[in-house]
Formats: sequence, C-alpha cells, structure tokens
Amino acid sequence: MLALEKAPEHLRGGNTYFTGGAIRFAFNGFDDIRALIPDLTEQEASVMEVGRYPETEFYDDLMRVTESLSDPEMADMLVRRSFDTMKWLQSQGMRFVPLWGRQAFKVDDKFHFWGGLILESVGAGKGLSDQLFDIATQNGVQIAYGTAATNLLMDDSGKAVGVRVKGPDGYADIAAKSVVLACGGFESNPEMRTRYLGPGWELAKVRGVRFNTGDGLTMAMAIGAQPYGHWSGSHAVAWDLNAPAFGNRNIADLYQKHSYPFGLIVNVNGNRFVDEGADFRNYTYAKYGREILFQPQRAAFQLFDQKTKHLLRDEYHIPQVTMAEANTIEELAQAMDINVEGLVSTVEQFNAACQPGEYNPTVLDGVHTEGIDPPKSNWALPLDSPPYLAYAVTCGLTFTFGGLRINRRAQVMDNVDEPIPGLYAAGEIVGGIFYHNYPGGSGLMSGSVFGRVAGTSAAEDV
Ligand SMILES: Cc1cc2nc3c(=O)[nH]c(=O)nc-3n(C[C@H](O)[C@H](O)[C@H](O)COP(=O)(O)OP(=O)(O)OC[C@H]3O[C@@H](n4cnc5c(N)ncnc54)[C@H](O)[C@@H]3O)c2cc1C
Repeated sequence: MLALEKAPEHLRGGNTYFTGGAIRFAFNGFDDIRALIPDLTEQEASVMEVGRYPETEFYDDLMRVTESLSDPEMADMLVRRSFDTMKWLQSQGMRFVPLWGRQAFKVDDKFHFWGGLILESVGAGKGLSDQLFDIATQNGVQIAYGTAATNLLMDDSGKAVGVRVKGPDGYADIAAKSVVLACGGFESNPEMRTRYLGPGWELAKVRGVRFNTGDGLTMAMAIGAQPYGHWSGSHAVAWDLNAPAFGNRNIADLYQKHSYPFGLIVNVNGNRFVDEGADFRNYTYAKYGREILFQPQRAAFQLFDQKTKHLLRDEYHIPQVTMAEANTIEELAQAMDINVEGLVSTVEQFNAACQPGEYNPTVLDGVHTEGIDPPKSNWALPLDSPPYLAYAVTCGLTFTFGGLRINRRAQVMDNVDEPIPGLYAAGEIVGGIFYHNYPGGSGLMSGSVFGRVAGTSAAEDV
C-alpha cells in the first residue's frame, strides 16, 4: 500500500497534526473509558467523574447543532461505530489520555468532565499524527512525501485505476487497484473559499496546513463524483488576531480562544453580537468564527475579570497572545483600540441585565441576562472585578463542510447515485455530516470511522 503526502516529510500530517487530539465517541460509563486507557492509575480513576454519553445523546447533539441536516445514515454510522472505532484504534497501538485541562473542572476534589468529550490522544495532534505514521509504516505502508495527486486515472469501464501525481521528480502515473481520497477540504484555497463559502472568506486565517487546497474534490468531481453537503459551510473559530495566515506547527491549536462562554465578546465598536453562553463551548465555537469574520475589521475581543480568570484554558497563557489588562473598562478599550463609549455602555447594560443564580461552569447553569439583545443564556456574571482582561481574536478557518457523497462502504458516489468502482473517501473530503456547526471532537472521529470503513472496503474489493 502506498500513501501519498503532498507535504514534505517535515511538514507531514495535515490538519490532524494541528488538532488538540480531542476525539468524541459514545460511551456508557466509566468502565468504557477505562477500557481505552489501560494504564490509568487507581488514583486518577478515583477523581474522574465522566458520567455517560450514550449513542442517542451523541446523535441528538449532532442533529441539534446541524439543524437536523446531517445525513441520518452517515450520522448513525458515525455515532454507532464511534466506540468500536476507539477500541480498534487502541488495539492498533494508539494511546489516549483524559482531557483533564480542557474538558474538566475540579469541583470538590473531583474532575467533572463535561460536554461529551473525555479523551485526547497522547501528545495531542502531533502525538496522534506521529503514532499514526508509526503504526502505518510498521504495517508495511509506504509513504511518498512531497507527492501530490493531481488527477484520477480511470479505465474505459469507469473504474478508478490509479492517480497521476506530481512529485519531486515531476509528473508520473501510479497504477492502483483502489484509490482512497483522504486529502482534506478546500480551506487553504482562497479562490475556492470565495467561490463556495462566499465573499470575505478569502481573508480568513487558516488554522491548519496550507496543503488542503481541494485537490481531491476537484479531481473527483472532474470524473463525475457527486458533491454533497454544506458547500457554503465551514468550521471556523475565534483565533488570535495576530496569528499567521496558516497554522504554526509549534503553536498548533493554541491560537484558539475558547473560554468565551465565561466572558463577554464585543467588536471594535464595543458591541456584543452573539450569545456567549448559548451552550457549552463544544457546541458554539465552530460557528462563532463566522460571526467574527463579518464584524468590522474581522476582529472581536473576549473580556474577562478576576472572577472568571481562573477558568481560562491553557491557550490563554501562551506568550504569543494578543491581550491587554487594565483597571478600568475605559483603559481596557483604549489599550485594545475598541470604541471607549461603546464598550463602557455595553458593559453597563450587560452588568445591569445579569440575573442572580447559582453559577456553575460545569453545567448549563441558566444564570442569564434579561432585557438585552443578544442575551447571555448561561454563566452571565457582571464584568465588575478589575483588573479586566481582553483577548483580541479574528476568524480562524478550520475546515470546510462541503464534500463528496459516499455510501455505507465509503465508496464515492457518482451523480446518479451509483458507486464509482475503485474509489473511496474519508475525512474532511466527505460531505453530508456537518452543516452550519459541529460537535467538538467529531472531525477526528469522522475521519477514523469512515477511514476504517474506506480501508476495509478498498481491501475487500481488491
Ligand atoms: C487547529 C486545529 C485543531 C483541531 N482540533 C480538533 C480536535 O481536537 N478534535 C477533532 O476531532 N478535530 C479537530 N480538528 C479538525 C481535524 O483536524 C479534522 O477533522 C481531521 O484532522 C481531518 O483529517 P483529514 O485526514 O481529512 O485531513 P488532514 O489531516 O488535513 O489530512 C489531509 C492530508 O492530505 C494531504 N493532501 C492534500 N492534498 C493532497 C494531494 N493532492 N495529494 C496528496 N496529499 C494531499 C495533506 O498534506 C494532508 O496531509 C482541528 C483542526 C485544526 C486545524
């Protein structure tokens, strides 16, 4: 088996390398978690409160955030095969650890995990990518680095029989009994972004690799593959205002700023524009990047005070962060170039709108505002305990939702709903699962479930 990697070896691994390695799966209790981390100590086990995340809940979460548009058959496969796929990954040598830092809050000596997301791969995205390359090569997979597929080779019967590639020595044709496309979306192609996501998206920063330029989509549609899913939709988050145009392998996902449910978000005019506490961050972060992109100067500011500072995730503490601290709201606005009167007025109105309640970051606590638009539906505490903190963010595009249609065997479908012989797809390049939004940790699970199916089908068919 040969795997083509467009990137040179030192930049290998795609967006997978940039992830936090957080992976979503259904489970029925702590025993399921334990089965995936055999080296968990008794002491660690004794402080974990993970609850349950049944398949029905994963399915409902997926449907809720995608406005019930997710293809029911694909959603069902993703959810029902999630735990089994975790066990399979573990049996292949993948190692996981609990998401102590990002998905758990300590309450009374116990870590309460929230939002259906419990585990990450050892070493986060880098660890995930390195482990996968190691396991693949141990199993005899050859890897051609710096080698991009440019065209699919089709025989007269309409079967995929290989790919044309551009590698270090130029163009070549490689024959294959089957071809699996797993080469990402079009997030790194500004022309396709503008064409499909819409005007303005060419200006978004990209969180991951520069190599996912929609090549697989283009070559598959050229031979009649069926486009499917939310082609004008994408996963996009709050990302440091001064982050580079593409991801940085050392910083990886730490330019993201995901603790906004516990603060306020304003634009350069000092106005709020989303309900920061609409839901757990897992269910809002992937759609709020888009909201930021269409604010003036594509900028937003997340504000916190001393009451919420301790809730900020690790990504707020890196040196490469665009932030300011001030003793008054006026000074904070000046430091960040936010309209001073606008911000002062917003904070005054927000503070006056906060209703009393029992604040609890581990649940949807219902502590909300009244009488302002947009409301804040949970975790609404007045911003009144200086020094105040502001973090400047813009839109960071993660991946695009539009893709190819596949069937239950991960075969790529043509425009009349027939499978294209010899052609399979998995990962970001598959359409029909995510629309508008996304439950955090589902991308890696989708790639894993459908990647396993694609590989199995490709092997069966040869
Ligand atoms: C910063 C960041 C953080 C994220 N965090 C998480 C997380 O914690 N949990 C989660 O579930 N998801 C997360 N995601 C989403 C996740 O990265 C994707 O859902 C998943 O990794 C996609 O896998 P993939 O194999 O489809 O694409 P990729 O991992 O991007 O792999 C695509 C590969 O194809 C190669 N390629 C492209 N074109 C060609 C070509 N023509 N020929 C040959 N090779 C080609 C690329 O070089 C790349 O190696 C995150 C993404 C980013 C960017």
